Amino acid sequence: MITEPRGRKLSKEEFAQVPHVTAQPRARYAWSAGPAMSRFLEELKRGKIIARRCNRCGRVLVPPRMFCERCFRPTDEWVYLPGTGVVETFSVSYIDTNANRIEEPILVGVIALDGACEHCGLMHYFGEVSPERIHIGMPVEPVWKPESEREGAITDIKYFRPRREEDRQ
Ligand SMILES: [Zn+2]
Repeated sequence: MITEPRGRKLSKEEFAQVPHVTAQPRARYAWSAGPAMSRFLEELKRGKIIARRCNRCGRVLVPPRMFCERCFRPTDEWVYLPGTGVVETFSVSYIDTNANRIEEPILVGVIALDGACEHCGLMHYFGEVSPERIHIGMPVEPVWKPESEREGAITDIKYFRPRREEDRQ
């Protein structure tokens, strides 16, 4: 059952009456993503998904981490994943990222990537699939942005779509 969220969006005029301050803070900062996440983001720019394997427990961590919290030791090697996977869980959202109500729902969820350890899911959007058709266990593959538009971010993958053509819409 879909229940209507309470409240409503403020109009531009209403929003202008809300007390607020306009300022342009000069908050300049630099932030290091660390060796594991930096490599992960660089590889995304190249259209690849990379993970780290721990040779003691055998888990393949994605997003990669330099340390295995289960074995309490550094992870051992880089491994590329094929990018394919299955839908581990999903949500049909009628609210966008700015909490605006939307007619066409956004499909988001967790992808269990092939070759990655259990419950090492990657959260992302789903596309080319209807809310009626998507289901847990559905085989999916990434749809990448064109290389010139990639910037080393998880959004370099536009979304995951069904692997089987007959499931696409
Ligand atoms: Zn381990």
